[in-house]
Amino acid sequence: MNEQLSHTTRQNSPVTVIGLGPMGQAMTRTLLAAGHPVTVWNRTAGRADGVVSDGATLAATPGEAVVASDLVILSLTDYQAMYDVLGSSTTSLAGRTLVNLSSDTPDRTREAATWAAGHDATFLTGGVMVPSPMVGTEASSVYYSGPDQVMKSHLATLTLLGTPKYLGEDPGLAQMMYQAQLAMFLTTLSGLMHATAMLGSAGVKAQEALPELLSFAGSIGDILRAGEEKPGAALDAGEHPGELSTVTMMGATTDHIVETSTSLGLDLALPLAVQAHYRRAIEDGHGGDNWTRIIDSIRKAR
Ligand code: NDP
Repeated sequence: MNEQLSHTTRQNSPVTVIGLGPMGQAMTRTLLAAGHPVTVWNRTAGRADGVVSDGATLAATPGEAVVASDLVILSLTDYQAMYDVLGSSTTSLAGRTLVNLSSDTPDRTREAATWAAGHDATFLTGGVMVPSPMVGTEASSVYYSGPDQVMKSHLATLTLLGTPKYLGEDPGLAQMMYQAQLAMFLTTLSGLMHATAMLGSAGVKAQEALPELLSFAGSIGDILRAGEEKPGAALDAGEHPGELSTVTMMGATTDHIVETSTSLGLDLALPLAVQAHYRRAIEDGHGGDNWTRIIDSIRKAR
């Protein structure tokens, strides 16, 4: 088969999408636009109306959706939803590739790969790093892990959803990367709202506060690189040189934030958590180290 024909065949290869929240709908539209026949199934059938009018085929049952395509993409709230949907049609799974792009824990993701193998299906884990309006755009990227060969055989189709970033064979790894990124993202979102509430108490509107805050958030990479050309190298070496900023200095700032937030009557959960990381590092005798020392407060729960 020549390259052109192979490409055409892939473009025409059927794909199934199970789960039609905003993400599943965006993926379905992206695949349809690229010429793939797409079969969909969703627990609430009415949610398929839009993509069906765009050309997708609505399967009557999950089993019918699975047998329609070798490649079955799942976009559900969590992994339990996958068992809820596919649990009664496991005989249809043999020979299929399940690509689960749903959030859950790495352990539950590994269990799911074993479950799929027990039904003679192959399994790829994915974590989509953009919201639904960005799916299929140049800015989109998706972390994957699972069998290398399976990744390679579906690469052309999966690339349509976003740039694939393959992390290796461990099915839990893409989920761990997704969770780590979201841990950072969600904490940042809470930080943004805390800061917006602080500024709001001084009469600064959110539409004025957020551009300032986002500009500073965007400079975090530059700030880290100013202290260390390759951020993380010292951390990997277990070193926390405190020439530029110390745990004690940053810890004092966390005290000020807690005091200010207390006087404003704001929720203290977030500032107290941050303060605790610095306090513990100081208690452990690391006040003169770089702020990265707080990783020890985080690595070992007390
Ligand atoms: P939604 O929560 O809107 O949709 C989830 C889908 O899961 C729906 O189709 C819903 O069916 C289905 N579902 C949930 N529980 C069950 C169940 N027990 N049985 C059957 N079906 C079930 O999610 P999104 O589309 O927003 O997200 C999908 C996944 O993508 C999530 O894991 C999310 O973390 C991840 N993600 C989302 C992003 C976003 O911006 N939205 C960005 C990146 C990743 P029904 O319609 O019947 O309720």
